[in-house]
Amino acid sequence: MGQGQTKSPQVILMGLDNSGKTTFLARLLTGQVMDTSPTIGFNVGSFNVDKRTSLTIWDIGGQKNMIPNWRYYLDDSKALVFMVDSSDPSRMREAQKALRKVLSDERLRGVPLMVLANKADQPNAMTIQEISKQLGMSNYPHLQWQIQACSALQGVGLRQAFLSVAKLIKKR
Ligand code: GDP
Repeated sequence: MGQGQTKSPQVILMGLDNSGKTTFLARLLTGQVMDTSPTIGFNVGSFNVDKRTSLTIWDIGGQKNMIPNWRYYLDDSKALVFMVDSSDPSRMREAQKALRKVLSDERLRGVPLMVLANKADQPNAMTIQEISKQLGMSNYPHLQWQIQACSALQGVGLRQAFLSVAKLIKKR
């Protein structure tokens, strides 16, 4: 777990606490759901998803401490993945603010964004149209971005999400 010294292209996975990042990562790494805990979860770390991709994940916003030097990781990042909990409308505004803050960083200029609307298995999950609206995506006309529904818990949409990320990186 190097401090950004990795040579493989970085993908940064961000999102509020409880959006499902740990569950998603556990799925990617093992294909299985592991027990997650808000305190034991991988709230920060770098992992090699495959030979070519390193994934760094961060909790941003929420109650968890923002690690002061998270921006350090942005230098190497080739794509940003922003995860939201589609079943929690009460935190969409917080998510929107957190996303705006991240996207304001100069180092992310030109870096494509994949929004993952997680927990799509929940009956009350918002649609991707609604989520795009709530995240204020129309405020970023120059950003190359996509949104996709997924369920980290059920393992639905994850492969697709990563294929889309890989494509976004190649297009750059
Ligand atoms: P993190 O704080 O972003 O790392 O979020 P976690 O991965 O710890 O997940 C927070 C909670 O949401 C846990 O109770 C997970 O089991 C649950 N969760 C994660 N992904 C999904 C999903 O796709 N569907 C549902 N229903 N629950 C999920």
